[in-house]
Amino acid sequence: MREQNKEVVVRRMQEEKVVVALVHRDEIPGKPSKYTDNDLKVIFDMVKECFDLSVDGVTNLIKPGQTVLLKPNIVGAEANPDSATITDPRILEATIKFIKESVRDVTVWVGENPFGSKGGSRAAFREGSWIGDAVRRAGVDDIIYFDEYPRVAVKVPDAKCWYEFSVPKALLDCDVYISVPKLKGHLASQVTITLKNAMGILCHEDMEKRHNTNLQQMIVDINKARKPDFAIVDAVRALAYDHSSRYPEHLISYNSLIAGRDAVAVDSVVEYLMGWDNPAKEVTTTRIAQWDGLGIADLNRIEMRGSDPKKLRKNLVTYFDEHTHAGYTGFPYEPCPIQAVFEGAEVFLGGCCLGCKSYLRMTLDSLYETGRLFGLVKSFGRLNIITGRNAYINPAMLPLPGVTLVYGDCAVDKWGDAVKDWPTRTEVISGCPPPAVALGRFFGELDKEAEKEM
Ligand code: SF4
Repeated sequence: MREQNKEVVVRRMQEEKVVVALVHRDEIPGKPSKYTDNDLKVIFDMVKECFDLSVDGVTNLIKPGQTVLLKPNIVGAEANPDSATITDPRILEATIKFIKESVRDVTVWVGENPFGSKGGSRAAFREGSWIGDAVRRAGVDDIIYFDEYPRVAVKVPDAKCWYEFSVPKALLDCDVYISVPKLKGHLASQVTITLKNAMGILCHEDMEKRHNTNLQQMIVDINKARKPDFAIVDAVRALAYDHSSRYPEHLISYNSLIAGRDAVAVDSVVEYLMGWDNPAKEVTTTRIAQWDGLGIADLNRIEMRGSDPKKLRKNLVTYFDEHTHAGYTGFPYEPCPIQAVFEGAEVFLGGCCLGCKSYLRMTLDSLYETGRLFGLVKSFGRLNIITGRNAYINPAMLPLPGVTLVYGDCAVDKWGDAVKDWPTRTEVISGCPPPAVALGRFFGELDKEAEKEM
């Protein structure tokens, strides 16, 4: 069975590679809050190199007369950019200037909705602010206050959990959507890079409601509404641990920009630089994004051009920091991943603790190792597991095809009765957590049913 799984992996590896550019400088003069024209020229040249390396020139991405939307990460409207919590204003200024100088009749918008209350975006871009002054100096055509701008309701048919929400009209109106995120650690989602930068296209109500325990799947679903056409990650100075961190030990200088067309590939390369060996497996959002077909996360399918990634890499994934006692200096890891891990097994996760997760992971490991999982997927088409409190599932996908297991009291509350009406094979196992032997019994029964069908 392992051989058959290997075949799938080998087939994927043979497909075309995507390109990601890494642009590094040993020294970048000035600082995000204060810089000269000469300092800015260094970043300007780095931005140009990003486009040259990844798409062979900006005009292969942006055509004359088109409208470009830049989406930075400005998580707090009043944040000082030297804190590394927001996108470096130098990168926005240089990118706008470069695009305007390189493409005829182009229109450039910049838009964002900082976390907080309505009016936050206006505060972030106000005159006299670092970001506001930088984009105006560069000649931005319009600043789109996402929290005030008209919104459009979208339905995302291939979203797994979150399928209906609203996005700023500008996101759909622009020809080219460029994400300009800041590289940061995140206690809920491990990292916040390109994919998570899309949270800023939501309205405040959704942003708060959706920062829940299935955040990673939500992030992927939001990106399905409109995936960035290009990403330039600000990894000049990164912030480890979490974007709330205020400890100087958490400021990490990469002096780099990482860019490309495929947001998943760009994030995967950045995560490699942060210390993960295999982001396609180890970083939940990236793993789910590849699983759902949003882009490429396998490093062996990504062509890295420019600076040597091995030289830029820092091993920062979770070590305890004796100095700050804030927890960890590096980037958080995910304990006991179960989503987007086992081929053929779809996990719909609600608020789920390690009680249910660890028993499910143990069981799935064993099913995979013995080849039984492959046999079950072959017989039933797919194995679905719903676990945790208040798991969202896109109604357009119901009833789920294949076999569905509702596991644990939290999941049973919402889905226990609902699945009983489905025409497919379903099973409900109660308990908090249900004993692991109950899983053993259920999969034993499934084995027998599969045998009978053969
Ligand atoms: S059912 Fe119990 S063990 Fe399972 S996720 Fe809920 S609280 Fe945790």
